[in-house]
Amino acid sequence: MKNKFAILETLIGNTPLFKITFKYKGKLLKIFAKAESYNFSGSIKDRIALNILKKAYKAKTIKEGDIITEVTSGNTGISFCALGAYLGHKVVIYMPDWLSKERQGLMKLYGAELRLVSKADGGFRGALKMAEEFSKQGNVFCPLQFDNEDNTDAHFSTTAPEIERQLKEFNIKLDAIIAGVGTGGTVMGLAKYFKPKGIKCHPLEPASSPTLSTGHKVGSHRIEGISDEFIPSIVRLNELDSIIAVDDGDSICMAKKLSAKLGLGVGISSGANFLGALKLILESGNDDYSTVTLFSDNSKKYLSTALCHDECVKDHHLSNDVELVSFEVVK
Ligand code: PMP
Repeated sequence: MKNKFAILETLIGNTPLFKITFKYKGKLLKIFAKAESYNFSGSIKDRIALNILKKAYKAKTIKEGDIITEVTSGNTGISFCALGAYLGHKVVIYMPDWLSKERQGLMKLYGAELRLVSKADGGFRGALKMAEEFSKQGNVFCPLQFDNEDNTDAHFSTTAPEIERQLKEFNIKLDAIIAGVGTGGTVMGLAKYFKPKGIKCHPLEPASSPTLSTGHKVGSHRIEGISDEFIPSIVRLNELDSIIAVDDGDSICMAKKLSAKLGLGVGISSGANFLGALKLILESGNDDYSTVTLFSDNSKKYLSTALCHDECVKDHHLSNDVELVSFEVVK
C-alpha cells in the first residue's frame, strides 16, 4: 500500500501554472491559473482524495477491503473511484441525477457503483443522508469531503506551496487568490496559507445561485462543481475576503473562449474562475494586480452540457470584451 501511495504522489499535484495574457477593453492584463486537469483522474479533486485516504490509512479509520462511499457533484467521486480502483477498494457513489452524463460514465468505467439521487429524493442533502445511512453497515469509509479538514489540508500542503514556488519563477508578487466554492476546501486551504502573508483570498459563487451570500440554496446555475446547495462546515466566510459573483452564461462563454483561442480546453468552473480573477483586477483599479485561480478540470466532462451548446451572449458579459493573447507556463 505504501508503494502505491508513493506512485500516486508522483501523479497528483505539481501541476503547471499558466500565465495568461489578455486584453480587456484594450488594456493588457494577466491572470495566473493552475492547470488541475493534469492530475491522475483529471481534476483538482485527486489532491483531496489522496490526502484523505493517506491520512485515513495512517489513522486506521480505513483498512484494506473497506468500501469507500462519498457524496459528490462529480470530480471528488471520480477521484475516489480512480484511487479506489488502484488501491483495491469498492466505491459506492451518491450523486444528484442532474449532473453531466460524462461524470456518471467515468465512475462506472472505474468500476464503481453509482446511486443517483433525484431532486424529489432530496438532491444533495438527500444524498448525504443516504450515504450516512449506508455507512452504518460497517466496513465503510466515508470521506465526508464537506466536513473533512484533510480536504482543506490537501490544498494548504500542496496547491498553495506549488503556487508560491511557481510565482517566484515568474518573478511575481501575488495580490489575490480566487476560487469557486464547492466544498470550499480549495479556497480555505489557500487562505490558511496565503492570508497570513497579506494576500487576499476570495470565494466565488454563481450570481444566479448565491448560496454563500444568502446561506441557503437559492435559484439555479450551470457551473457544475460549485455552489452545492448549502455552506459546507469547512467554509468559514469570516476568514475570507469578499464573495465574488459571476454569471454562469458568461462563465460558459469564457471557458469556450479559452478553448477556442488558446487551446486550453477547460471546464465551466474554470471559465468562472477566470472571470472572478478579472473582476478582482477591475475592482482594484490596478492593471498590474496579480491574481491566481484554478482551472479545476478540463472540458471533456462537459460534452453533453451547456458548454457544447450555443450560449446566448448577453451585453453585460465580461467575456465579450476579453481578447485572449497568449500564455506562458511554469511546471
Ligand atoms: N470546480 C470543479 C469543476 C469542481 O469539481 C469543484 C469541486 N466540487 C470545484 C470547482 C470546487 O472546489 P472545492 O470543492 O475545493 O471548493
